[in-house]
Amino acid sequence: MALRVGVVGGGQLARMMIAPAVELGVELRVLAEEAGMSASLAATAVGDYRDADTVLAFARDVDVVTFDHEHVPQDVLAALVDAGVAVHPGPAALRFAQDKLLMRARLQELGMPQPDWAAVSNTDELQAFIDDHGGRAVVKTPRGGYDGKGVRVVSAATEADDWFAALAEDARGGALLAEELVDFSRELAQQVARRPSGAVRAYPVVETVQRDGVCAEVIAPAPHAAERLQRVASTIGVGIADGLGVTGMLAVELFETTDERLLVNELAMRPHNSGHWSQDGAITSQFEQHLRAVLDLPLGDADPVAEWSVMVNILGGPAADSLDARFAAAMTEHPAAKVHTYGKAPRPGRKVGHVNVAGSDLDEVAYQARAAASFFVD
Ligand code: ADP
Repeated sequence: MALRVGVVGGGQLARMMIAPAVELGVELRVLAEEAGMSASLAATAVGDYRDADTVLAFARDVDVVTFDHEHVPQDVLAALVDAGVAVHPGPAALRFAQDKLLMRARLQELGMPQPDWAAVSNTDELQAFIDDHGGRAVVKTPRGGYDGKGVRVVSAATEADDWFAALAEDARGGALLAEELVDFSRELAQQVARRPSGAVRAYPVVETVQRDGVCAEVIAPAPHAAERLQRVASTIGVGIADGLGVTGMLAVELFETTDERLLVNELAMRPHNSGHWSQDGAITSQFEQHLRAVLDLPLGDADPVAEWSVMVNILGGPAADSLDARFAAAMTEHPAAKVHTYGKAPRPGRKVGHVNVAGSDLDEVAYQARAAASFFVD
């Protein structure tokens, strides 16, 4: 009988696991938040991932539960584990992707390079941190941030007053995360797959380009990445995967500083936007690799199949009724481009798809990817 993987969350990451699941002969089941989501093709259930009974019922007859996002509460995860369900990544690892303060403290214990940071509980503590770091700092809400929401550069502690007020009302209490404002030359990402039995596979380190806090473009491998940089990045990635006991795909977002150091920004324990290039540019895509890893199957080769891959995100903007025509036009003009669609309504700024191009000439690959993606921009 086919192995069954249950994915909690019906977004595009779950959607992109569907094709490799079919190829692997794995039965994919998805617990979607609502009908008509990206992964609705495989949505066998619709319900609230914060409700333990809903998730337990969904998990009853799958071999492993994994995730499209990191928001499943710890008590729901604990209920799954208590019921004997295999959960990958497990709750003990996931909490470091759910809470940036826990992550910073644990990475410090592991000796990982990271920005200077502090947990700040009030404006006085934040102001002291700002004063100690040249008059500016980055403040983050530890939980629930994504795409730059929950991240603010401040030069006065009062700029985070609303977040401190929200903390005061949150029964869980807690603190905000203050970080030094890193003077980085670029952002990189290192992905690693890890099986429950411990085997790991590192992907090439990639460059990620962010616009307005959202990933716009990824170049794989990162240009001008000397062997040393690749070695340091994969050592960090594997060290974190092992140290935190991550199972499945791990993405480590990194800053490369002007003095050529790598600092860990944040972690994702699932397939990640920085790895979409691997669908058309690596021997084993991150989505297939994630399924293999959470099922504890042998991992696939993570090497690139071309010298260069470029991924360009498509953000919503055009009117919904014109999207199909735009896809057709992009595919007609750029047959080398692989257009991936998420089946989402194109609200402004929302990720609705991406384009991958792979080849031997980086300028040409980047041109093709950007030109194909430009069909979707008004
Ligand atoms: P999110 O969880 O919303 O993705 P991140 O922590 O990744 O938030 O931050 C979003 C972006 O903000 C980063 O990609 C980076 O460009 C910038 N940023 C975050 N932390 C710092 C920092 N300490 N120094 C400089 N820039 C930062």
